[in-house]
Amino acid sequence: MRRTGRNTGAARATSGAGDSGRCEPSRRPAASKPDTAAAAGWYPAVEAAAELGLAPGLYLVATPIGNLGDVTLRGLAVLRGVDRILCEDTRVTARLLARYGIARPLNPYHDHTAEQARPGVLAALRGGARIALVSDAGTPLVSDPGYKLVRAAIAENLPVTMAPGPSAALAALTLSGLPPDVFLFGGFLPPRQAARRRVLAGWSGLAATLVFFEAATRLAACLADMADLFGNRPAAVARELTKLHEEIRRGRLADLAAHYSEAGPPRGEVVIVVGAPEPSAPDHAAISERLRAALAEFGVRDAATRLAAETGLPRSELYRRALAIRGEKR
Ligand code: SAM
Repeated sequence: MRRTGRNTGAARATSGAGDSGRCEPSRRPAASKPDTAAAAGWYPAVEAAAELGLAPGLYLVATPIGNLGDVTLRGLAVLRGVDRILCEDTRVTARLLARYGIARPLNPYHDHTAEQARPGVLAALRGGARIALVSDAGTPLVSDPGYKLVRAAIAENLPVTMAPGPSAALAALTLSGLPPDVFLFGGFLPPRQAARRRVLAGWSGLAATLVFFEAATRLAACLADMADLFGNRPAAVARELTKLHEEIRRGRLADLAAHYSEAGPPRGEVVIVVGAPEPSAPDHAAISERLRAALAEFGVRDAATRLAAETGLPRSELYRRALAIRGEKR
């Protein structure tokens, strides 16, 4: 692990940026050096930020989910400034680094190597190394490796920070046309139908837009289970986001299920987004009936208040209707 004079620069550059007293990565906009940056062919901000040096710590860096242009300047500066980069597939990350002229050592960190690799990574962090963690695409830890490493680093009070960026979950949510204000990200559903249906049933009443990663081969079956368990809610399938064949197919669950069952599994990667339960239209005749019954016992105000509590309908509306019913009787 390297601890060069650049760390001192980083500490200076970040003083005042954090209140933890720990070294934090630079958040200050980098001074540009047009001559060297232009010669190197890098984005000026990347070049300059990297030259400021990075403080020791673990850096989670989000990477593109398809379009290699979708990486932040700070993300590139971090990747260029760290001692090494942990990644899922070195070939995938090497392509990204080559695109931006970055050459840093790559170490595999994926489901099969993580247990073995973690103690060494933590030891390096304790020693002051600057290590980036990326996944093949999108935000590390989000249905990707890294959670146990982050948890262990936090437990030891080692610096952990992030260069945020793309995630297929948020891209799909925001393009779905469904309400984004409250949502649940359900990750990957279990591949077996019985287990999948159990998980879906648990979420069927949730007043939130639901977002799931799913394999294209299971898409039709999954949509059919959702239509069955959730009812025919509005939904969207976001496919190949940011790529050449990006497609957002919006519709009701049953129609989407029928489409993919007929058309077969689509090519590429998909995210399913499902709308929250739709409020059922109030049954006006039944409500009037209940108001009549309440008015036999209570005054207009009390009858409206009681029914509002029972049905969740606005009290003012029930009060107006109760008055009208009283009026009919006279
Ligand atoms: N950590 C990543 C993220 O934040 O986007 C997700 C990694 S997860 C292993 C891979 C899943 O993400 C795919 O199966 C698919 O559901 C979704 N995904 C990734 N890239 C996508 C894209 N370009 N378009 C649609 N879905 C994508």
